[in-house]
Amino acid sequence: MNEFEFECSHCGEVHKGIPTFGADIPNTVLQVPQEQRESRVDLGTDDCVIDGKHFYVKGYVEIPVVGFSDPFIWGSWVSLSEENYQEFVECFDQDNRSHVGPFFGWHCCDFAVYEKECTNLETQIFLRDNGIRPLIKIKPTKHPLAVEQNNGITRDRLIQIYEQMLHGI
Ligand SMILES: [Zn+2]
Repeated sequence: MNEFEFECSHCGEVHKGIPTFGADIPNTVLQVPQEQRESRVDLGTDDCVIDGKHFYVKGYVEIPVVGFSDPFIWGSWVSLSEENYQEFVECFDQDNRSHVGPFFGWHCCDFAVYEKECTNLETQIFLRDNGIRPLIKIKPTKHPLAVEQNNGITRDRLIQIYEQMLHGI
């Protein structure tokens, strides 16, 4: 299989490997004033709770790349109901957990490469076994993120995303 690499039109370097980009926090955290975040936001590596009543988990929106075996990955957050969140975290540390769920979640982050907001897209999140980060499937709609997950993207589109995310162009 091909290894993904390209010469960057912005910095001139050869960037190697299919990247993962994503959000460190659900964007609702930004609505909490900075000085209150420590007391109101409980942020873990895989989950986040705001005010003890808004629940978020982290997953991967995987996007197939034509001609490559590995997908391109957006690290994303979705919000879950309290009931689903409890069920999700209860089995999270187990090796075998893929039989639990999937769970409905609202997408809670945006990516600069899409002109349309990605927040509040409907998703389903699937637990996977052996510590693999959960998979987020965007509900199939005409939204470009949904279309790209459904149809996959070309190498050229991946280069465009890579340059924009890395260099802000
Ligand atoms: Zn570059």
